[in-house]
Amino acid sequence: MAKKTSRAANKMIYFFGLSRTDGGGDMKALLGGKGANLAAMTKIGLPVPPGFTITTEVCVHYYKNGKKYPDGFDADLKKAVAWMEKETGKKFGDPKNPLLVSVRSGARDSMPGMMDTILNLGLNDETTEGLKKATGNGRFAWDSYRRFLQMYGDVVMGVQKKHEHDHEPFEDVMHQLKKEVKVKEDVELTEVHLQELVKRYKKLIKDWTGKAFPNDPMTQLEGAISAVFGSWMNERAIIYRQKYRIPDDWGTAVNVQSMVFGNMGEDSATGVAFTRDPATGENVFYGEYLVDAQGEDVVAGVRTPLHISDMAKDKNIGPAFKELDKVRKTLEKNFGDVQDFEFTIEKKKLYMLQTRNGKRTALAYVKIAHDMVKEKLMTPEHAIKSGDPEALNQLLQPIFDTKAYEQARKEGRLMATGLAAGPGAATGVVAFSANKAEEWAKKGKGVVLARIETSPEDLRGMIASNGILTCRGGVSSHAALVARQMGKVCVAGAGDIEIDYHKGTLKCKGVTLKEGDAISINGSTGEVFHGAIATADSELKQVLVAKTMKPKDSKVYQYYDFIMTLADKFRTLGIRTNADQPDQVENAIAFGAEGIGLCRTEHMFFEGDRIIAVREMILAEKESDRKEALATLLPYQQKDFEGIFRALAGRPACIRLLDPPLHEFLPQQDNKKGQQEVAEQLNTTVAEVNRLVHELHEFNPMLGFRGCRLGIVRPEISEMQARAIFQAAAAVLKEGVKVKPEIMVPLVGFKKELDLQVEIIHRVAKEVMKETGKKFAYSVGTMIEVPRGCITADEIAETAEFFSFGTNDLTQTALGMSRDDSGSFLPRYQELEIVKNNPFASIDETGVGQLMKIGVDKGRSKRNDLKIGICGEHGGDPSSVVFCHNIGLNYVSCSPFRVPIARLAAAQAALRAAAKK
Ligand code: PEP
Ligand code: MG
Repeated sequence: MAKKTSRAANKMIYFFGLSRTDGGGDMKALLGGKGANLAAMTKIGLPVPPGFTITTEVCVHYYKNGKKYPDGFDADLKKAVAWMEKETGKKFGDPKNPLLVSVRSGARDSMPGMMDTILNLGLNDETTEGLKKATGNGRFAWDSYRRFLQMYGDVVMGVQKKHEHDHEPFEDVMHQLKKEVKVKEDVELTEVHLQELVKRYKKLIKDWTGKAFPNDPMTQLEGAISAVFGSWMNERAIIYRQKYRIPDDWGTAVNVQSMVFGNMGEDSATGVAFTRDPATGENVFYGEYLVDAQGEDVVAGVRTPLHISDMAKDKNIGPAFKELDKVRKTLEKNFGDVQDFEFTIEKKKLYMLQTRNGKRTALAYVKIAHDMVKEKLMTPEHAIKSGDPEALNQLLQPIFDTKAYEQARKEGRLMATGLAAGPGAATGVVAFSANKAEEWAKKGKGVVLARIETSPEDLRGMIASNGILTCRGGVSSHAALVARQMGKVCVAGAGDIEIDYHKGTLKCKGVTLKEGDAISINGSTGEVFHGAIATADSELKQVLVAKTMKPKDSKVYQYYDFIMTLADKFRTLGIRTNADQPDQVENAIAFGAEGIGLCRTEHMFFEGDRIIAVREMILAEKESDRKEALATLLPYQQKDFEGIFRALAGRPACIRLLDPPLHEFLPQQDNKKGQQEVAEQLNTTVAEVNRLVHELHEFNPMLGFRGCRLGIVRPEISEMQARAIFQAAAAVLKEGVKVKPEIMVPLVGFKKELDLQVEIIHRVAKEVMKETGKKFAYSVGTMIEVPRGCITADEIAETAEFFSFGTNDLTQTALGMSRDDSGSFLPRYQELEIVKNNPFASIDETGVGQLMKIGVDKGRSKRNDLKIGICGEHGGDPSSVVFCHNIGLNYVSCSPFRVPIARLAAAQAALRAAAKK
């Protein structure tokens, strides 16, 4: 028998209001971020208009059941409306005192601007007259009604433009009317004009859809809820989720909230604000507002809003600003993070419409985390959890080269200055449409997308561009918001610039640029220049890589270092790097690497003219010739290893024996010129080279003569490499530098393969110790990169002292999908969701991940202290790092510049795992 509580478990709607608040800030999964925080704000006594939240579970059910609502939903919705009527003292459809509501989406993680919103719901011909009476403001009432029709017609009934360059159908109708009645601005339309506009809007809806606009508020509400759920699956929301890896099956909540109006005259306003600057992280009240306007006016960037600090001076709304400033502090204290919130002032009274943790640039992230932890407003744990590891890349983004920048200024190339909405420098060709931007970016051009204002449809173009420039809209306009989140360089609201889409021109101060001309924007200052400007290293690179700047001179470095030090305190996973040269090792150590996780020795074979000896070795038919060639290579390799050991200063160096198929070192069959060169170098005939190249040809080289197979068939190669490593170790030890070599055998699938290689390595180690009189510790292990290696890991662990997962090959061999040839079908696979992410970028947890688990479990069943790492590309991918933590790896290894990303991701993994316990 069902227990009584089961109804509560299936609760579909949560109320928030003075008399009752069901939810709370910790219920984001169920109520979405917006719903949970509305409940939280109500609970701490902030002025929130009452309403209710329909849970994400309802949305999930809706999609799982052919867009049908759960049983009992309609009845619950009616009850919720009745509760709201009681709470507000207003009634749905009551001309005397109409209840009007907003209907907004609210996913677990905010997806700004991606889903739909409807305001002023509940209006029809009768209630509009009621609203007029209640407010004594007919213009306001009819303006609210026409806005509602416009939003409802667009979002719920699908009256939308068909092509990128089309005008919005509703805008067209309004434009026509304005022409007829000879007014320029929307605000000049009178009540009578607006009544006419309403008529025309209704006709437009009828003509476009064949259906009449629904008068009944309950029908309107049902339509709006379905539309918001529907917008979860619109194209831009899907693209957004793919980019930010938000699962499709989370669903969105829907918030129905009683309306307050910022457009009731000079004593009303609406705005969005951040408790700190989300672009730079400065502790300043940051935001903007519009007097006598509705929320969407601010976000859409249609009117350029005023800066929040101007509000204090406004005699009508100044007092509400004082309260808002207090709210700013209350929010940070209660939510423990920077808040991005929306507010409305209705006839001098302040209302809070939503709050959420503010999206911020990487620069703002490190500064805010640093400052708020020091101010004791944020916990160190949250400072780590709130970072986006991938976004740390932004801190490495170029800035303008100082000289080139000065030169551009001197030459008078500064065209305009807008808002600095996304720090960094971008230079490239200017594109006026998202499609053009994508097209050029695909051709490898650097692109700056310039739009009058951006909308969610521009998302693909924004992703493809280096930088974004808009002429209209403020710091919380769509462009600024998205740029901030993606870490794009962005200048928003450069009002002096005029863009004409039809003519394909951008004009400012007498300068005209055509689409495709060069342009440069500085997202840290808001400046726009015509022509290209050379870029230079970021401060972080100047401090850590080029060392042209001292740590004490770079605030950015100091904030970054604060976060990294904090991350290191929390993480338990080691972080190593994939590096083959001393300078790469030095960079990686500067970024925090604790050793080398993979040194691909073959990369060293290409340096200078040593490739000649490599080719001699490959093409030699007699063992004696091969040995001779290897003897030439040995001192080179030894020198390389010495350099690496010195750079590591005692940190572990996991060095892999030769791995790639030998043909990679030779000119391909059709490269006659290359073969001619080789013939000359090796003092033989082209025909001979061609014959050997032919002989080495493999149908499937990735599954052919490579990895440990090389060392087994040609043991003298492994012998030479082992000797070079050990002689280097002995030499560097003599200099007083500690060494920790770990020799790694690639592509092992059989224990015997490893045994045979280990025998050689141990023998050579003994010989070198004897010859040099130096004793050194070393270990021998294997890569686990073929499925058989995972499945027989217990046997392999009898010999291997460590494992390192080569997830590039493991993915390739487990999926039977060539890592080099998957480009032709993988994008389609992702679209069709056959694979959630690119499995070569992010571990395929359910497939390859299972094999890794088997490898870990079996390996440790034989050797319980077996050290296990990963050195495939996945080692620098945040979600894969989390997976590696969870299956108990000891370290991840990634390219030098991804080390900070891995450090932060590893710390987040540790915190998340601890929270689950
Ligand atoms: C791997 O296979 O994951 C690996 C690190 O080796 P490579 O990419 O060199 O084949
Ligand atoms: Mg490999």
